[in-house]
Amino acid sequence: MHPTLCTCGSRLPFSDCCQPLLRGECEASSAERLMRSRYTAYSLGDFAYVLRTWHASTCPPNLVDALNQENVKTQWLGLNILDSQAGKSTEEAYVTFFARYRDEQSPSWIYETSRFVRENNRWYYIDGIHRIPGRNETCPCGSQKKFKKCCAH
Ligand SMILES: [Zn+2]
Ligand SMILES: [Zn+2]
Repeated sequence: MHPTLCTCGSRLPFSDCCQPLLRGECEASSAERLMRSRYTAYSLGDFAYVLRTWHASTCPPNLVDALNQENVKTQWLGLNILDSQAGKSTEEAYVTFFARYRDEQSPSWIYETSRFVRENNRWYYIDGIHRIPGRNETCPCGSQKKFKKCCAH
């Protein structure tokens, strides 16, 4: 029996990857780990985790209700982390990711550089800047194809 691989694309078993974070058994050791676990929480519909890892200063009101409504029609298809780097201090970090999903039949994606802060040894999502790939750029999904021949449509 193969263990179930984690949804975040790490190729690790779920039980060794995002599951202990979602269960609150340990804290994410880096902003990238938190980013991965938040993707997994979205894909599993664990919006309590999304809420608890969103910094209170920027967390939208009624987040969990809104996500529960959206989630009915959203299926997450894959995550690719393109870059992660420290910010102005070691308590700040930026993670650039590309996440694919299907929304009422049509495939779509989010390409974002997210900002994270660490407070009391815990990483939190703060906000992000949406990006758009160039048509001739290598697709950020990780396929090695050009964007226009891959996720652009
Ligand atoms: Zn994972
Ligand atoms: Zn692609």
